[in-house]
Amino acid sequence: MNGRTCDLAIVGGGLSGSLAALALARKRPDVSVRLIDAGEAIGGNHRWSWFGSDISPEGAELLSPIRQNVWESGNDVAFPEHRRTLSTPYLSMSSPDLDTALRRSLPDDALVLRRRATALDANGVTLEDGTRINARAVVDARGFAPTQHLQGGWQVFMGRHIRLAGPHGLERPTIMDARVEQLGGYRFVYVLPLSAYELFVEDTYYQDTPTLDCSALSSRIDAYASEHGWDGEIIGFETGVLPVITSGNFERYQALNRSHGVARIGAGAGFTHPLTSYTMPFAVQCALAIAADADLPGDQLAAKMEARARSHWDAMGFYRLLGSMLFGAAPPEQRVRVFQRFYRMPEDLIERFYAGQSTMADKTRLLIGRPPVPIFGALHALASKRPSLIHTDESKIA
Ligand SMILES: Cc1cc2nc3c(=O)[nH]c(=O)nc-3n(C[C@H](O)[C@H](O)[C@H](O)COP(=O)(O)OP(=O)(O)OC[C@H]3O[C@@H](n4cnc5c(N)ncnc54)[C@H](O)[C@@H]3O)c2cc1C
Repeated sequence: MNGRTCDLAIVGGGLSGSLAALALARKRPDVSVRLIDAGEAIGGNHRWSWFGSDISPEGAELLSPIRQNVWESGNDVAFPEHRRTLSTPYLSMSSPDLDTALRRSLPDDALVLRRRATALDANGVTLEDGTRINARAVVDARGFAPTQHLQGGWQVFMGRHIRLAGPHGLERPTIMDARVEQLGGYRFVYVLPLSAYELFVEDTYYQDTPTLDCSALSSRIDAYASEHGWDGEIIGFETGVLPVITSGNFERYQALNRSHGVARIGAGAGFTHPLTSYTMPFAVQCALAIAADADLPGDQLAAKMEARARSHWDAMGFYRLLGSMLFGAAPPEQRVRVFQRFYRMPEDLIERFYAGQSTMADKTRLLIGRPPVPIFGALHALASKRPSLIHTDESKIA
């Protein structure tokens, strides 16, 4: 290997980095990989979910070594004016499930955990204790970092995993229960029946600031669970403060985040759905692309992923526009009307929306008709610039 430690060094064992390592292990076992993460385990503390229609058959095959909850019977939504069951299957996996699958699929020396990378370059990675990992190609999957070059709002949430004393009787997930009090933005509760006795209940807000008020969200989850008779033992929880991108200077963003000759993937590279903040469909696509290009020299892989990120940014423009209208056109408590109207649309249009694959006809359909928010507000929203996506640790209130 010409003095190299490995062929590919991936920094960041979150969703995108882990899936890239998994794709390489499954499709290119001859390529030696190091997956480096600062954390104790792969994937941090997350539950990732997605619609069956978000992922290609090849993508589903990639995810197959990971234990997943699969709800073939579809998913529910509930709004003040209507309820609906959609037939699209829904899936979910946890970070411990991802960690287990990676440990089983990768050779023992591939995982480098509890090690922070301090420098990435075209020929390798330097860790904080000075260890050098030389590689033919380096992939940066370190996640999203706040930036002044992108603007928008925030999706803030707390999720709780509860074990009940008796069965809850739910058949399928509720993706959005927006009949709850609308506080400070578009608010909904998300419920996954993980097993007959276990539920995952998440309280989510599309809000203007990145403030996560843990005690308020925790008591609102208590109240929602109690109303439904779901009192039980808390066995896990997660929180998130995710950017909802409505505009930005992507070229500048890329330039400032570029390490010369290093390929970038994941949320930090811009592979997100600007409005839902989900990355799963794009993380799977990038993982497959990295495996397909595993023989490229590092600088070529870097250039290819950067061009891919630019095309993704261009393709997501419509969702940024919808995001501007969501945040800018309606008072926060009335944002629910935008989603309520959206969920009256045909099921295949909704599927393409979440997968980031809306057609021209879908886009037209979403924009025409009686708007759910005042038209002048919508026009004003499009003309005005939203705040930069910057937050600080003080954003989290315990
Ligand atoms: C709680 C939560 C739930 C989410 N749920 C969903 C969902 O259901 N569906 C969906 O599609 N999206 C979801 N998202 C959004 C998005 O998919 C995730 O944020 C996703 O994990 C982003 O993947 P990533 O690989 O870019 O970054 P991350 O998964 O955040 O991974 C980055 C990794 O890099 C490591 N790292 C950073 N710096 C260094 C360093 N210097 N050295 C070594 N390691 C480093 C970190 O420890 C981390 O493990 C969720 C986000 C959160 C926070």
